[in-house]
Amino acid sequence: MTERAIIGRDHVVSIDYRLTDEQGELIDTSDGAEPLVYLHGHGQIIPGLEAALDGKPQGHKDRVVIPPADGYGESDPELIFTEPKDSFEFEVEVGQLLEARDEDGESYEYNVVAVDAEGVTLDGNHPLAGKTLTFDITVVDVRPATAEELAHGHVHGEGGHHHE
Ligand code: ZN
Repeated sequence: MTERAIIGRDHVVSIDYRLTDEQGELIDTSDGAEPLVYLHGHGQIIPGLEAALDGKPQGHKDRVVIPPADGYGESDPELIFTEPKDSFEFEVEVGQLLEARDEDGESYEYNVVAVDAEGVTLDGNHPLAGKTLTFDITVVDVRPATAEELAHGHVHGEGGHHHE
């Protein structure tokens, strides 16, 4: 008899997932791609999902509904603003993702949410901010992290980080 590994702090966890929004629209999935691999207990995935997976065994299947506060946060209205059209030297379209840098070289991404006579409205929130997220997950694999992985703070090998 083999003991099924249990998810806990400092374990490497692989999950298959399907992420949908409040309307049931598919946002992201590991279907047809590699499972998501992360180091449990280190804040590498959103808090609501990490909490839901804690203590679950390999093979566990679940549907987890995560409110914005435990996901990507609430949408911050201060990050939504309108710039005059002529401040852009190129054609801007709704849905476009723009990258800007501040004086410190920090880069920010803005989603173009509206273009009209008043100007171009940009939203600097995470695209999933303010959304309730539903994850259908299957725990594919659980193993203790190696000492080296813990020292580096990330997963090595399959689905993880590769060093030269
Ligand atoms: Zn490393």
